[in-house]
Amino acid sequence: MPATEKEIVHAVANAIIENKDYLTDLDTKIGDGDHGINMARGFEAVVAAVDKMEDTTDLVALFNTIGHTLLETVGGASGPLYGTGFIQAAKAVEPHPPMTVANVEKVLGAAIEGIKHRGRADKGDKTMLDVLIPIHESLQNAEGKSLIEVLMNASVAANKGLEHTKKIAARRGRASYIGDRSIGTEDPGAASSLIMFRAFVTALS
Ligand code: ADP
Ligand code: MG
Repeated sequence: MPATEKEIVHAVANAIIENKDYLTDLDTKIGDGDHGINMARGFEAVVAAVDKMEDTTDLVALFNTIGHTLLETVGGASGPLYGTGFIQAAKAVEPHPPMTVANVEKVLGAAIEGIKHRGRADKGDKTMLDVLIPIHESLQNAEGKSLIEVLMNASVAANKGLEHTKKIAARRGRASYIGDRSIGTEDPGAASSLIMFRAFVTALS
């Protein structure tokens, strides 16, 4: 049986909570050491909010609940950015869309546009976008492939995206304050994006 929407939210939340220390350690090296704490707090609140929803199959309502909860509870730069991503995704998604490559591509594209606009950032700035944009690019180059095949390719691209953030200096967020000294450490937000995406793919497949 395919995972329900609620099970997928739980899987993503658990993955973030399990990786709280890893994310905080990365942020300790190049930021202020709160990314794991921020994200775990946010996703604990997401689970509580989603568990209270009557109908979690309506993706417009589900994404709005996740987005507003992250916006209100995460704190730090990542809260408003992920929150905006989910709220823009809610605007782009249909309530009960078929799970197709085209639909995932459209909704992730809207989330990325929201994050780019809010954070005034783009690919190469050493942020969450360095994982999210390669995932989106994989979804755009999906001709003739099944959803699972495309998501597997996207996971590889996401991994490479995170690895690449290790090699570059931050141009946005707190890590930009230390300039070239941010080289050598993966971006915490890129790491949390990869963790969320992997948990999503694992729950689906
Ligand atoms: P803070 O930096 O306020 O302590 P977090 O530690 O929770 O917030 O999140 C840091 C992450 O947020 C960074 O690793 C990066 O991925 C992301 N980030 C920060 N600023 C931006 C931005 N302007 N655009 C996109 N992502 C950003
Ligand atoms: Mg931080």
